Amino acid sequence: MLDSKIPSGKLDDKWVDYKGHCKLVNPANKRKMEIIIVGTGLAGASAAAAMGELGYKVKAFCFQDSPRRAHSIAAQGGINAAKNYQNDGDSVFRLFYDTIKGGDYRAREANVHRLAEVSANIIDQCVAQGVPFAREYGGLLSNRSFGGTQVQRTFYAAGQTGQQLLIGAYQALERQVALGNVTMHTRHEMLDIVKIDGKASGIIARNLITGELEKHFGHAVLICSGGYGNVYYLSTNAMGSNVTAAWKAHKQGAYFANPCFTQIHPTCIPVSGDHQSKLTLMSESLRNDGRIWVPKNLGETRKSIDIPEEERDYFLERRYPAFGNLVPRDVASRAAKERCDANYGVGTSKQAVYLDFAAAIQRYGKIEVSKQGLTNVSADEITAMGKEVVKEKYGNLFDMYAKITGENPYEVPMRIYPAVHYTMGGLWVDYELQTTVPGLYALGEANFSDHGANRLGASALMQGLADGYFVAPYTVGNNLADEIYNAAIPTTHPAFEEAAKKVADRIASLKNINGKQSVESFHKRLGKIIWDKCGMARNKEGLTQAIKEVQALKKEFWSDVRIPGDINEYNPELDKANRVADFIELGELMCIDALTREESCGGHFREEYQTPEGEALRDDENFMFVSAWENKGDHDWTLHKEELKYEMIKPSQRNYK
Ligand SMILES: Cc1cc2nc3c(=O)[nH]c(=O)nc-3n(C[C@H](O)[C@H](O)[C@H](O)COP(=O)(O)OP(=O)(O)OC[C@H]3O[C@@H](n4cnc5c(N)ncnc54)[C@H](O)[C@@H]3O)c2cc1C
Repeated sequence: MLDSKIPSGKLDDKWVDYKGHCKLVNPANKRKMEIIIVGTGLAGASAAAAMGELGYKVKAFCFQDSPRRAHSIAAQGGINAAKNYQNDGDSVFRLFYDTIKGGDYRAREANVHRLAEVSANIIDQCVAQGVPFAREYGGLLSNRSFGGTQVQRTFYAAGQTGQQLLIGAYQALERQVALGNVTMHTRHEMLDIVKIDGKASGIIARNLITGELEKHFGHAVLICSGGYGNVYYLSTNAMGSNVTAAWKAHKQGAYFANPCFTQIHPTCIPVSGDHQSKLTLMSESLRNDGRIWVPKNLGETRKSIDIPEEERDYFLERRYPAFGNLVPRDVASRAAKERCDANYGVGTSKQAVYLDFAAAIQRYGKIEVSKQGLTNVSADEITAMGKEVVKEKYGNLFDMYAKITGENPYEVPMRIYPAVHYTMGGLWVDYELQTTVPGLYALGEANFSDHGANRLGASALMQGLADGYFVAPYTVGNNLADEIYNAAIPTTHPAFEEAAKKVADRIASLKNINGKQSVESFHKRLGKIIWDKCGMARNKEGLTQAIKEVQALKKEFWSDVRIPGDINEYNPELDKANRVADFIELGELMCIDALTREESCGGHFREEYQTPEGEALRDDENFMFVSAWENKGDHDWTLHKEELKYEMIKPSQRNYK
C-alpha cells in the first residue's frame, strides 16, 4: 500500500496543523534553492509566482511562446469557492462533500477538504490581482451554479474565466521575472527528468526554435503540464496539450494514478465529420439556463421549434428531478448517450441532443418587464429583452456556437453531444503533492489528486490555483528545508550527460524511421481506438482488444512514421511525433487500468457493472482504492494501491434524483 502522508488529527485541522508545523526555509537559504517548474498554465504560473515571491530561484518552462497561451486560457465557465455569498447554505463542508460525492467516492478526503478550505483564499487573491469577476448591480461578486451542486458557488468572468485568471497569474509571474526571481523559458519542452541518487535534480529541455537540448538543475522539479485528454485525438483541449512531461516522469519512477478516469463533458458541439482535429466546448454554465431535451417520438422529422412542449422529453429533468439539468457531467453525458443510442438523437448525425434557451429567454424577459415597471409589453418585446439578458450572461459562447455551426442559438436550440474534456487521472501524488520520486511534484491537471472518478465543473481552476498559490509553497518548502546543505549540482554531472544523450538518441531514432505515414494519422487512429473502447462506455472484450490494437499501433508507429524537416531546427512535426509516441504508451496503460477496475464509478463506466436504472455501480469492497501504476519497461506495469479511507463521509450510491 502507498503512503499518502496524510497528517494525523481531525480532518478540519489537518491543513492548519500541517502549516503550523511544517519546516521552513529562511530567506537567505531560499535564495540558494533552485526550483524548476514545468508548465505555466494556471497551476504552474501560480506556483512560479508564489515561489518567486517567497524568494526561491525559479526556472519556469512552457512550450508556447508565452505563458498566456497555456490551455488554461480556454476555461470558460468559472471557478468554485465556498464563500457562501448567496447565503444559500454553502460551506467548506458542503464543497468538500459535493466534490467527494461528485467524484463517486474515489478521491482522498484530506486533499479534498484542504481544497475546499483554501478555495475562498483563491477568490480573494484573484480579486486583489484585479481579475474582473462578474459582479451584481450593487458591486458584489456574482455567482452561478455548476453541475452536482444545489448552491451557487461558481465565480466567473463571462465565458472567459480561465483567460482572466491566467492574466492575473501571468502578471504575478511576470512581476517575479522582472525582479529576477523567476527565469522564464518559453518555447522549451521538457523531455526528461534527471535523477541523482534517486532524487529529481533537474530536467532536459529542448529549445523548440533551435532544436538544441539544454540541461537545467533544480533542487525540486514541479510538473504542472496539464491533462492528457488529447490521447483521444478529438477533445476540447488545446491542440498542444499532451502527456509527455508527466509520461517522462512516469518512466523515471513516478507512479501514474487512475489513468482511465476521463471526463466526457456533456455539452460540446457534435463531431461533424472526419476532417475535424478539435472539438469545442459549450460551457457547463449554459446548463444554468439551458434545458436539455430530445423529441419523444422516434423518427421525429420536424424542426426543433415546431415540436410542441408536450412532445419533448427533458430527459435530465425527468430522470433527476432534484438536480435536473445540473447533474454532474458523467451522469449528464451518459444520459445523452442513452437517448442517442435509443435513436432519439437529433441533427443529421442523430448523435446530438438539444440545449434550449427559449424558456430562459422568456423568463428573463418577464423579469425585465417587472424590474422596469413596464406595461402593455408585446411578446416580441419580452423576447427581445430576454435575449439581451442571455447575451449579457453567455454572449461570447453563443457567438462561438453561431460561428461554428452557422445557426443562431437565440432562435433555435443548440445541438450538443458529449466529448472528451478533462483527465482526472495523472501522476500519483501524496498529501504534499510529491510523486513517488523524491523532489518531483505534480500540480494542477497533471496530478490525479482531488476529483476522484469525476470532476465537478469549475473545480479544475480551483484545484490548479490551490496547488500553485496555497499548497506547494508550504509542502515544497517543507522538503527543501532538508536540502539547504546541498549546493546546486553542475549540469556537467554525468547524470545530466546521460539523460541528454538518451533524449538525443530517442529523437534521432524517431527521425531516422523515415517511414510513410504522418504523425497525425497515427494520432487519429489511436484516438479512435481509445474513444471506441475506452471512452464513455467500456467493457472487458473491447478493452482486451484495444490493448492489442494499441500495442500493434506502437510497433507500426516506430517502423513507419514519417517526420519531415530536421532535428536542429524549428520542427513542430518532430515535437508532435515525440508526444504521440508517449500518447500511444499511455493509451495502453489507460486500457489496462480500465480493464483492471471491474466496477463502474464516475466517468469510468464498465457496461458489465450498472444498476438496473443504468447508473454506475461501484464495488467498494474490492475497488475502494487509487490505482497507481509503476512502469517496469515496455508494455509492463505493476499495480500499487492506495486504500481510500472515508472518515467523514459515508460512501453511498450517488443519487441526484
Ligand atoms: C474548453 C475548456 C473549458 C474549461 N473550462 C473550465 C472552467 O470553466 N472551470 C474549470 O474549473 N475548469 C475548466 N476547464 C479545465 C481547466 O481549464 C484545466 O483543467 C486547467 O486549466 C489546467 O490547468 P493546468 O495549469 O494544470 O494546465 P494547462 O493550462 O494545460 O498548462 C499546461 C502548461 O504546461 C506546459 N507544458 C506541458 N508539457 C510541457 C513540457 N513537456 N515542457 C514544458 N512545458 C510543458 C504548457 O506549455 C502549459 O504552460 C476547461 C477545460 C477546457 C478544455
